[in-house]
Amino acid sequence: MALAIVRTIADLRAAIRGFRGAGETVGLVPTMGALHQGHLALATAAKRSCKRVAATIFVNPTQFGANEDLAAYPRDEARDVAMLQAAGCDLVFAPGVGEIYPAGFATEVKVTGLTEHLCGIFRPGHFQGVATVVAKLLNQAQCDRAFFGEKDFQQLQVIRRMARDLDIPTEIVGVPTVREADGLAMSSRNRYLTPAERAIAGLLPRFLQQVATALSDGAPAAPRIDAAKRALSAAGFSKIDYVELCDEKSLQPIAVAGKGSRLFAAAYVGRTRLIDNWPVL
Ligand code: AMP
Repeated sequence: MALAIVRTIADLRAAIRGFRGAGETVGLVPTMGALHQGHLALATAAKRSCKRVAATIFVNPTQFGANEDLAAYPRDEARDVAMLQAAGCDLVFAPGVGEIYPAGFATEVKVTGLTEHLCGIFRPGHFQGVATVVAKLLNQAQCDRAFFGEKDFQQLQVIRRMARDLDIPTEIVGVPTVREADGLAMSSRNRYLTPAERAIAGLLPRFLQQVATALSDGAPAAPRIDAAKRALSAAGFSKIDYVELCDEKSLQPIAVAGKGSRLFAAAYVGRTRLIDNWPVL
């Protein structure tokens, strides 16, 4: 059976009411489309734990900065829908911008503390855009569980806190990062990379893994992180936003690795910004 595509909040709610009325659990997989195996891992995890899975495809304008790639962001709904169907999804919510942000829209969700480091420094307003749209999607769908990737680890923690603080009764589930054969975290933006840039990009997870392994001995992190930044530059990364050791719950920087430490990085290859993270202990 072809999966249903709905474009309005009313139709989404009617479809999910139907599932829940039949006593079925429902999982939600929010995406911006341009799907790859990382997104499908979320759908697979959702299908494993919920009877029904609804995916959303919405390129959320409010999480893009003025100089970011909103206009160029890849869009291919027919391909995305076919992939979601093959992954066992039951429903796709693909609204237009006006459905999500009608005229007069005036509310923003801001999660303080977790958003002032890492990508929060380099992408002002990004996490407000994310928290606002995800709060809306969770309220619109009213699902049992919603699935997000650890690839965007800061985003996952921001969403967890937002859902807890706003008493949204949906369980937030994190799914491990899906990687290419050389370790590069899958991302819709990887398609921007030229072959030469793609070869350089694969070095980011390798450096992170090496530094994470080295840091598990409990020595101060700063010298090794500085060395890693120099190595990334020497390898061809054009700009390094950050390489930082943080506590994975608070996302605050820490000087020496301990339980729950995680290494976070954001760096450009050419004009493409890559992010990744790696657990330390
Ligand atoms: P996006 O379409 O990039 O906004 O991502 C939608 C969801 O897919 C987010 O929860 C991401 O964290 C997740 N995701 C993206 N790439 C990966 C990946 N390589 N592995 C696991 N999850 C991912």
